[in-house]
Amino acid sequence: MTDGQSLLLLFVALYLIESLRWLPARSHVLIGSGKRWRQQRPFHAIEWAGACPSLLGVVPPMEDHWLTLPWQLIPAEAGVEVHGDERRPRLVNWESLQPRVDGKKLILAPGCSVRWLSEDQAREAQQRLVTWKQQTQAQREADFLSLAQESLQQSPLTDGIDQLSRQTKWLKRLGSVIFVWTFMVMVVLYRWLGDGLEILWAAAVLLGLQISQAALFVRQAKAVPHRVWKALAIALLPQHAMRAADLLADLPPTHARWVHPLAARSLIGDEAWQKLARHFWKIARHRPSATADLQCQALEVYFQAQGIAIHELEIVPQQESGTAAYCPNCQAQFQSGATQCLDCGGVELRPFE
Ligand SMILES: [Zn+2]
Repeated sequence: MTDGQSLLLLFVALYLIESLRWLPARSHVLIGSGKRWRQQRPFHAIEWAGACPSLLGVVPPMEDHWLTLPWQLIPAEAGVEVHGDERRPRLVNWESLQPRVDGKKLILAPGCSVRWLSEDQAREAQQRLVTWKQQTQAQREADFLSLAQESLQQSPLTDGIDQLSRQTKWLKRLGSVIFVWTFMVMVVLYRWLGDGLEILWAAAVLLGLQISQAALFVRQAKAVPHRVWKALAIALLPQHAMRAADLLADLPPTHARWVHPLAARSLIGDEAWQKLARHFWKIARHRPSATADLQCQALEVYFQAQGIAIHELEIVPQQESGTAAYCPNCQAQFQSGATQCLDCGGVELRPFE
């Protein structure tokens, strides 16, 4: 491998690291710009300290991203139910609950913690748990239901995204130009002309683009902490210059507590939203949980407001020959006589009609 190739490989690796985020296991990332958005979930096979990796869009045009999070703490009669990952929820008794914040992590009891999108969110969740601990179950449920509806509102999300898109518009455009210049123009020039004066000129142009990006960043990113140091990194390192807009998107939202992934209906389109709606309905309805009824109640109110009937969200699989019932959670099919799906922790089977 030549020096030029090694350098290019190093830049690609640094760029990918810059595009990677470690997120709470159940978070969703909205990625896109303008009217085109998609939702992506972190890669669950890798988990480190309660977080899973997620790679943002890496090829131009550069995009914005926004993190959403479903309900992670739900009050039950005996304690708080923790829905921090895709596994069976854990119950922490009210008596043993000692919530404590450690960065973005909220520790509920020894060996049981849940990760949030920001430290502020972790603190807010801690406050809520302290309040719930002193309340009656009816009060806790009412509080949860109002919080749930608040998290499903569309406008905080769309307003936030509009504002972000305006702030990052030119950072994204220039970031795309820097990407093309670094990974395409300079590579072609190097292959074509080799080490020479031309490549030095191309590098000088790149430096000029990075400095312009840094100046643009200083103007747009007033809310970003250590803005001047970050601008310096943008001026000197191409991977930081390409992804400068992300530093604004990474800021924790100030206007919304947290937004549920379902709130993104108008952004992701009806088809993707319905798929998501089925996913959340299935989890609420069928995952073994002490709070299933409360979760379903919250979702039913929301789906009714969205004009979608519950039966539209329940998928009936195509009946295979010899089967009489199916599991509404995993869609596995069973012969007559079976009543429960043991794979899903005892979900009651439904007969085919
Ligand atoms: Zn099942």
